[in-house]
Amino acid sequence: MSTLPITFDDVVAAHERVRGVAHRTPVMTSRTANELAGAELFFKCENFQRMGAFKFRGAYNAIAQFTPEQKQGGVITFSSGNHAQAIALSAQLLGVKAVIVMPHDAPAVKVAATRGYGGEVVFYDRYTEDREALGQRLAAERGLTLIPPYDHPHVMAGQGTAAKELFEEAGGFDVLLTPLGGGGLLSGCATAAHALAPDCQVIGVEPEAGNDGQRSLQGGAIVHIETPKTIADGAQTQHLGNHTFAVIRERVSEIVTVSDAELVETMKFFASRMKIYVEPTGCLAAAAVLQRKVDVQGKRVGIVISGGNVDLLRFAELVSAQP
Ligand SMILES: *Cc1c(COP(=O)(O)O)cnc(C)c1O
Repeated sequence: MSTLPITFDDVVAAHERVRGVAHRTPVMTSRTANELAGAELFFKCENFQRMGAFKFRGAYNAIAQFTPEQKQGGVITFSSGNHAQAIALSAQLLGVKAVIVMPHDAPAVKVAATRGYGGEVVFYDRYTEDREALGQRLAAERGLTLIPPYDHPHVMAGQGTAAKELFEEAGGFDVLLTPLGGGGLLSGCATAAHALAPDCQVIGVEPEAGNDGQRSLQGGAIVHIETPKTIADGAQTQHLGNHTFAVIRERVSEIVTVSDAELVETMKFFASRMKIYVEPTGCLAAAAVLQRKVDVQGKRVGIVISGGNVDLLRFAELVSAQP
């Protein structure tokens, strides 16, 4: 019997919960991409997911399982990224109050997007206050349930539904690659892959500036690092989670890294060749293949594009900068 924090049954149950609520995002292909990689590539486009990233899947799956008391009390999270918007939107859809703890200098667009989904934003000073401690204090004081961005079985199982859909639609992969931050996406997708295609190799891709995941997998213990400096803001995590690592060490064969310059090349490729708008973090897995950081010659390859939330001016700045 498995003692891992999630099983494929959890992913199947999550898929039932998000059915008709989350988008079944398209799987896209490109002859040019195939030629560049020397392989057959299938891109699962979570940049087209509700609120713009796969995080909606995990957040919705988590809040949907609240008890009546938890629903009454509300949800809280500390994140200024895609998880914040995912929690705010999911809570709104399920009629639950959401409190999001954000740094006082969070980008105005992110604050506005979170409020737009009905979330209450509580600011903290990132130089003097600890967001986790504040989140836990507010949770206790106000009877809110804390849902962290990745290290939670319900979040992980929800994220795995992206890979389940990809396998069901295009199937028969030799390799599956996903971006890696704290490991919610990778652990969920690896769980789906293990059940649906046991011989498929699963690879996580993280920013070169923060290769804690790679070192953790190689060393067999979670490595902690300083917040990495990278344009992949969705993967600026300092360590894997206990739950995510337990799955990753069993189900993931390799973790590779890509540089910021390689992410920018991939953003340009997606925009100009495939006409899709992808945020830097969303490009991690694709960059590893298109920039040949992994050998997938002649293989059939599934790739998760994880999100598309990047400010338009920021996008323009990144793709027009001289290398
Ligand atoms: C959060 C996020 C990631 C990383 O996901 P983890 O579950 O933390 O590994 C990757 N891409 C995007 C767009 C994200 O928002």
